[in-house]
Amino acid sequence: MLLRVLGCSGGIGGNLRTTALLVDHDVLIDAGTGVADLSLDELVQIDHIFVTHSHLDHIACIPFLVDSVGGMRDRPLTVYALPETIQCLKDHIFNWKIWPDFGAIPSPETPFLRLVAMELGGRVTLGDRVIRSVPANHVVPAVGYHLDSGRSSLVFTGDTTSNDALWEEVNGIENLKYLIIETAFSNAEAQLAALSKHLCPALLTAELAKLRRPARIFVTHLKPGEGAVTMSEIEESAEQYSPRMLSNGQVLKF
Ligand SMILES: [Zn+2]
Ligand SMILES: [Zn+2]
Repeated sequence: MLLRVLGCSGGIGGNLRTTALLVDHDVLIDAGTGVADLSLDELVQIDHIFVTHSHLDHIACIPFLVDSVGGMRDRPLTVYALPETIQCLKDHIFNWKIWPDFGAIPSPETPFLRLVAMELGGRVTLGDRVIRSVPANHVVPAVGYHLDSGRSSLVFTGDTTSNDALWEEVNGIENLKYLIIETAFSNAEAQLAALSKHLCPALLTAELAKLRRPARIFVTHLKPGEGAVTMSEIEESAEQYSPRMLSNGQVLKF
Protein backbone atom coordinates (compact mmCIF):
# COMPACT_ATOMS: atom_id res chain seq x y z
CA MET A 1 0.00 0.00 0.00
CA LEU A 2 1.09 3.53 -0.66
CA LEU A 3 0.05 6.26 1.76
CA ARG A 4 0.39 9.88 0.70
CA VAL A 5 0.03 12.65 3.26
CA LEU A 6 -2.42 15.31 2.04
CA GLY A 7 -2.72 17.06 5.38
CA CYS A 8 -1.12 16.54 8.79
CA SER A 9 -1.47 19.82 10.67
CA GLY A 10 -3.74 20.85 13.51
CA GLY A 11 -4.81 23.84 11.45
CA ILE A 12 -4.58 25.83 8.22
CA GLY A 13 -2.55 28.78 6.94
CA GLY A 14 0.04 28.94 4.16
CA ASN A 15 0.93 25.36 3.23
CA LEU A 16 -0.73 23.82 6.30
CA ARG A 17 -3.62 21.40 5.76
CA THR A 18 -5.73 19.46 8.26
CA THR A 19 -5.70 15.69 8.48
CA ALA A 20 -6.14 13.68 5.30
CA LEU A 21 -4.22 10.58 4.18
CA LEU A 22 -4.64 9.15 0.67
CA VAL A 23 -4.10 5.39 0.46
CA ASP A 24 -3.33 4.07 -3.02
CA HIS A 25 -5.70 5.93 -5.35
CA ASP A 26 -9.07 4.99 -3.85
CA VAL A 27 -9.05 5.31 -0.05
CA LEU A 28 -8.94 8.29 2.28
CA ILE A 29 -8.22 8.10 5.98
CA ASP A 30 -9.95 11.27 7.20
CA ALA A 31 -10.87 14.04 4.83
CA GLY A 32 -9.55 17.31 6.21
CA THR A 33 -8.61 20.33 4.11
CA GLY A 34 -5.69 18.52 2.43
CA VAL A 35 -8.17 16.72 0.16
CA ALA A 36 -8.82 19.99 -1.67
CA ASP A 37 -5.32 19.83 -3.22
CA LEU A 38 -6.19 16.71 -5.25
CA SER A 39 -7.05 17.10 -8.92
CA LEU A 40 -10.58 16.38 -10.09
CA ASP A 41 -9.21 13.20 -11.72
CA GLU A 42 -7.84 12.06 -8.38
CA LEU A 43 -10.98 13.03 -6.48
CA VAL A 44 -13.19 10.94 -8.78
CA GLN A 45 -11.19 7.80 -7.96
CA ILE A 46 -11.86 7.91 -4.22
CA ASP A 47 -14.30 5.13 -3.29
CA HIS A 48 -13.87 4.80 0.49
CA ILE A 49 -13.32 7.24 3.34
CA PHE A 50 -12.48 5.94 6.81
CA VAL A 51 -13.21 8.68 9.34
CA THR A 52 -11.58 8.69 12.79
CA HIS A 53 -14.10 11.03 14.45
CA SER A 54 -16.57 13.81 13.84
CA HIS A 55 -14.36 16.88 14.42
CA LEU A 56 -14.38 19.35 11.56
CA ASP A 57 -10.64 19.21 10.86
CA HIS A 58 -11.10 15.52 9.90
CA ILE A 59 -14.32 15.74 7.84
CA ALA A 60 -14.23 19.22 6.28
CA CYS A 61 -13.82 18.04 2.69
CA ILE A 62 -16.37 15.20 2.62
CA PRO A 63 -19.28 17.53 1.71
CA PHE A 64 -17.33 19.23 -1.10
CA LEU A 65 -15.89 15.95 -2.38
CA VAL A 66 -19.24 14.23 -2.78
CA ASP A 67 -20.79 17.31 -4.35
CA SER A 68 -17.88 17.75 -6.79
CA VAL A 69 -17.63 14.17 -8.07
CA GLY A 70 -20.97 12.49 -7.25
CA GLY A 71 -22.41 13.04 -10.72
CA MET A 72 -19.20 11.80 -12.40
CA ARG A 73 -19.19 8.43 -10.62
CA ASP A 74 -21.13 5.21 -11.22
CA ARG A 75 -21.17 4.07 -7.58
CA PRO A 76 -21.57 5.71 -4.21
CA LEU A 77 -18.73 7.14 -2.19
CA THR A 78 -18.70 5.12 1.05
CA VAL A 79 -17.86 6.64 4.42
CA TYR A 80 -17.04 4.28 7.31
CA ALA A 81 -17.02 5.49 10.92
CA LEU A 82 -18.26 4.69 14.40
CA PRO A 83 -22.10 4.72 14.68
CA GLU A 84 -21.91 7.93 16.76
CA THR A 85 -19.79 9.62 14.08
CA ILE A 86 -22.17 8.56 11.31
CA GLN A 87 -25.08 9.95 13.32
CA CYS A 88 -23.22 13.29 13.69
CA LEU A 89 -22.69 13.47 9.93
CA LYS A 90 -26.40 12.81 9.33
CA ASP A 91 -27.65 15.18 12.03
CA HIS A 92 -25.24 18.08 11.62
CA ILE A 93 -23.82 18.06 8.07
CA PHE A 94 -25.96 16.17 5.54
CA ASN A 95 -29.21 17.53 6.97
CA TRP A 96 -30.31 19.82 4.09
CA LYS A 97 -29.37 22.84 6.25
CA ILE A 98 -25.58 22.80 6.25
CA TRP A 99 -25.42 20.58 3.14
CA PRO A 100 -27.84 18.40 1.15
CA ASP A 101 -28.43 14.78 2.15
CA PHE A 102 -26.36 13.08 -0.53
CA GLY A 103 -27.68 9.75 0.76
CA ALA A 104 -30.88 10.63 -1.11
CA ILE A 105 -29.34 12.31 -4.19
CA PRO A 106 -30.06 11.69 -7.01
CA SER A 107 -32.29 9.03 -5.42
CA PRO A 108 -32.23 6.95 -2.22
CA GLU A 109 -31.75 3.82 -4.40
CA THR A 110 -28.67 5.16 -6.21
CA PRO A 111 -27.13 7.69 -3.82
CA PHE A 112 -23.88 9.61 -4.30
CA LEU A 113 -22.98 8.94 -0.64
CA ARG A 114 -23.25 5.88 1.61
CA LEU A 115 -22.68 6.33 5.36
CA VAL A 116 -21.75 3.00 6.94
CA ALA A 117 -21.53 2.52 10.71
CA MET A 118 -18.58 0.39 11.80
CA GLU A 119 -18.10 -0.64 15.42
CA LEU A 120 -14.69 -0.48 17.08
CA GLY A 121 -12.59 -3.38 15.79
CA GLY A 122 -14.60 -3.59 12.58
CA ARG A 123 -12.63 -4.31 9.43
CA VAL A 124 -13.06 -3.76 5.71
CA THR A 125 -11.19 -5.87 3.16
CA LEU A 126 -10.40 -4.22 -0.18
CA GLY A 127 -8.58 -6.76 -2.34
CA ASP A 128 -5.41 -7.70 -0.42
CA ARG A 129 -5.78 -4.70 1.86
CA VAL A 130 -7.39 -4.79 5.28
CA ILE A 131 -8.41 -1.65 7.17
CA ARG A 132 -9.45 -2.12 10.79
CA SER A 133 -10.40 0.39 13.47
CA VAL A 134 -8.41 0.52 16.70
CA PRO A 135 -9.24 2.32 19.99
CA ALA A 136 -8.72 6.05 20.52
CA ASN A 137 -9.46 8.18 23.58
CA HIS A 138 -10.74 11.61 22.59
CA VAL A 139 -13.49 14.07 23.63
CA VAL A 140 -15.91 12.53 21.13
CA PRO A 141 -16.19 8.86 20.13
CA ALA A 142 -13.07 8.21 18.04
CA VAL A 143 -10.94 5.47 16.52
CA GLY A 144 -7.58 5.07 14.85
CA TYR A 145 -6.95 2.76 11.89
CA HIS A 146 -4.69 -0.22 11.28
CA LEU A 147 -3.85 -0.60 7.58
CA ASP A 148 -2.46 -4.00 6.62
CA SER A 149 -1.16 -4.63 3.09
CA GLY A 150 -0.41 -8.28 3.87
CA ARG A 151 3.32 -7.50 3.81
CA SER A 152 3.41 -4.84 6.53
CA SER A 153 1.21 -2.55 8.54
CA LEU A 154 0.72 1.10 9.37
CA VAL A 155 -1.22 2.39 12.37
CA PHE A 156 -2.67 5.90 12.46
CA THR A 157 -3.90 6.90 15.92
CA GLY A 158 -6.20 9.73 14.88
CA ASP A 159 -6.81 12.22 17.68
CA THR A 160 -6.21 10.62 21.05
CA THR A 161 -4.79 11.12 24.49
CA SER A 162 -3.25 8.38 26.66
CA ASN A 163 -4.90 5.05 25.92
CA ASP A 164 -3.68 1.63 27.06
CA ALA A 165 -6.28 -0.12 24.88
CA LEU A 166 -4.54 1.18 21.75
CA TRP A 167 -1.19 -0.30 22.73
CA GLU A 168 -2.71 -3.72 23.33
CA GLU A 169 -3.81 -3.69 19.70
CA VAL A 170 -0.61 -2.17 18.32
CA ASN A 171 1.61 -4.61 20.21
CA GLY A 172 -0.36 -7.46 18.64
CA ILE A 173 0.51 -6.39 15.07
CA GLU A 174 3.38 -8.64 14.01
CA ASN A 175 4.12 -6.89 10.73
CA LEU A 176 4.01 -3.33 12.11
CA LYS A 177 6.19 -0.94 10.11
CA TYR A 178 4.87 2.58 10.67
CA LEU A 179 3.10 4.38 13.50
CA ILE A 180 1.61 7.82 12.90
CA ILE A 181 0.69 9.36 16.25
CA GLU A 182 -0.66 12.75 17.14
CA THR A 183 0.90 15.39 19.36
CA ALA A 184 -1.42 18.36 19.14
CA PHE A 185 0.15 20.57 21.81
CA SER A 186 3.51 21.59 23.27
CA ASN A 187 4.32 20.86 26.91
CA ALA A 188 3.40 24.44 27.88
CA GLU A 189 -0.17 23.50 26.95
CA ALA A 190 -0.22 20.16 28.78
CA GLN A 191 -3.37 21.20 30.64
CA LEU A 192 -5.15 22.00 27.39
CA ALA A 193 -3.96 18.67 25.95
CA ALA A 194 -5.52 16.84 28.91
CA LEU A 195 -8.74 18.85 28.70
CA SER A 196 -9.18 18.35 24.96
CA LYS A 197 -7.91 14.74 25.11
CA HIS A 198 -4.88 15.16 22.88
CA LEU A 199 -1.20 14.44 23.51
CA CYS A 200 1.71 16.75 24.33
CA PRO A 201 5.38 15.66 24.16
CA ALA A 202 5.46 14.48 27.81
CA LEU A 203 2.31 12.39 27.29
CA LEU A 204 3.59 11.11 23.94
CA THR A 205 6.82 9.92 25.54
CA ALA A 206 4.86 8.04 28.22
CA GLU A 207 2.70 6.46 25.51
CA LEU A 208 5.66 5.38 23.37
CA ALA A 209 7.09 3.56 26.40
CA LYS A 210 4.12 1.16 26.01
CA LEU A 211 5.10 0.22 22.44
CA ARG A 212 6.69 -3.23 22.42
CA ARG A 213 7.54 -3.48 18.73
CA PRO A 214 10.04 -1.75 16.49
CA ALA A 215 8.32 0.81 14.28
CA ARG A 216 9.15 4.01 12.47
CA ILE A 217 7.30 6.75 14.27
CA PHE A 218 5.87 9.90 12.73
CA VAL A 219 4.24 12.72 14.64
CA THR A 220 1.17 14.48 13.26
CA HIS A 221 -1.44 17.14 14.16
CA LEU A 222 1.06 19.74 15.44
CA LYS A 223 -0.56 23.04 16.27
CA PRO A 224 0.26 25.80 13.75
CA GLY A 225 3.02 28.01 15.10
CA GLU A 226 4.06 25.44 17.70
CA GLY A 227 5.57 22.80 15.41
CA ALA A 228 9.21 23.63 16.05
CA VAL A 229 8.97 23.86 19.83
CA THR A 230 6.79 20.73 20.05
CA MET A 231 9.20 18.72 17.88
CA SER A 232 12.23 19.87 19.88
CA GLU A 233 10.47 18.82 23.11
CA ILE A 234 9.68 15.45 21.53
CA GLU A 235 13.26 14.98 20.34
CA GLU A 236 14.47 15.69 23.87
CA SER A 237 12.19 13.35 25.83
CA ALA A 238 11.46 10.65 23.24
CA GLU A 239 14.85 10.52 21.51
CA GLN A 240 15.19 6.74 21.89
CA TYR A 241 12.14 6.20 19.65
CA SER A 242 13.54 8.44 16.87
CA PRO A 243 10.21 10.12 16.12
CA ARG A 244 10.04 12.38 13.08
CA MET A 245 7.55 14.99 12.07
CA LEU A 246 5.11 13.80 9.41
CA SER A 247 5.20 16.19 6.48
CA ASN A 248 2.77 17.15 3.77
CA GLY A 249 3.34 15.25 0.54
CA GLN A 250 5.28 12.49 2.30
CA VAL A 251 4.75 9.00 0.91
CA LEU A 252 4.97 5.84 3.04
CA LYS A 253 5.12 2.41 1.41
CA PHE A 254 4.19 -0.68 3.36
ZN1 LIG B 1 -10.47 15.85 17.39
ZN1 LIG C 1 -8.06 16.88 14.99
